[in-house]
Amino acid sequence: MAISRRPDVLVIGAGVIGLSTAVRLAEAGLSVQILAARPPRETTSASAGASWGPYELTDERVVHWSEQTRLTLEKIAEDPSSGVRLVRGLEVAPFPLEPPACVRNLNDFELCPADQLPPGYVSGWRYTSPLVDMPRYLEHLTRRLVGYGVEMEIAAVNSFKELTGRAAVLVNCTGLGARHLVPDDQVYPTRGQLVVVDNPGIETFFQDWAEHEDMTYILPHGSHVVLGGSATPGSDSLTPDPVRAAAIVERCSAVEPSLRHARIRQILVGLRPSRPSVRIERDLVDGNVLIHNYGHGGSGLALSWGCADEVLSLSELT
Ligand SMILES: Cc1cc2nc3c(=O)[nH]c(=O)nc-3n(C[C@H](O)[C@H](O)[C@H](O)COP(=O)(O)OP(=O)(O)OC[C@H]3O[C@@H](n4cnc5c(N)ncnc54)[C@H](O)[C@@H]3O)c2cc1C
Repeated sequence: MAISRRPDVLVIGAGVIGLSTAVRLAEAGLSVQILAARPPRETTSASAGASWGPYELTDERVVHWSEQTRLTLEKIAEDPSSGVRLVRGLEVAPFPLEPPACVRNLNDFELCPADQLPPGYVSGWRYTSPLVDMPRYLEHLTRRLVGYGVEMEIAAVNSFKELTGRAAVLVNCTGLGARHLVPDDQVYPTRGQLVVVDNPGIETFFQDWAEHEDMTYILPHGSHVVLGGSATPGSDSLTPDPVRAAAIVERCSAVEPSLRHARIRQILVGLRPSRPSVRIERDLVDGNVLIHNYGHGGSGLALSWGCADEVLSLSELT
């Protein structure tokens, strides 16, 4: 759809970061439009797991953004069509590890005795967390945007200069695309692969803290389960790797044997928009007020609402 009038804000990008940011700005009463090279269902965000699992907790901003996001996702979970559900599960590590404070403070947090952990793990704890079926959730956000009258145009932006005068404020939510658009050579892809299988009856999540490229997680979403995962920095191949997929199923089946013969529905591959730290700041480019909101790596969902709040405040429009 071609965009009609000049809005307060033009959000560039329609992944989870662009859509949540646009919802937050529209809720605040601003007129918002979205311009994106790819629609929501074709973004990296659509191929995420996805769990609210805060990490990189040495960055104070990240602690705050994840907490804001958890509170917002808990409210969204009240709508069963949103793709967000609150699910209890087990988080483990193969080495001695203290649970992070943001998890320890949750209402139903409890340490898991060592003799109840799957083989190979020495630390573990249980808590309830939002789990997100990303394709459904992106549809939920899109429906909310339609409700606010936000229009979306599908087209690539080659430079910010071409957007001069399009809106009072531009917001850059282009994820990995920021590498070329900004350009920002601190942005790089981290390839991830997941396997989606029929759910043999799993109702709790499982995820481990791995210190290597191959992690193990099991995220149930009703009729299907997302099995993970992998994280290969610097790789930008979107071709599924069948050997890695078989290894994912094997690792998850060692934890939950009912998965061994579950029918495989799909192998998903996505490129996380990695950066040493998330970039959220106000900038002036070719005469445009530009707010950057990119570089969320493997935590785009987990940080989305906290970052959207930050953009609203940086916009200085309310
Ligand atoms: C396998 C896997 C599992 C993951 N699991 C989790 C998880 O459990 N929890 C979690 O929090 N995160 C997870 N992530 C990370 C998460 O998916 C990302 O952090 C998140 O999707 C980033 O969102 P984004 O909106 O910034 O980028 P994207 O989803 O990539 O969206 C970018 C948007 O910008 C547009 N764009 C780019 N360049 C341009 C341009 N030049 N002009 C116009 N538009 C442009 C694109 O078309 C797209 O619409 C996972 C990722 C992978 C790959």
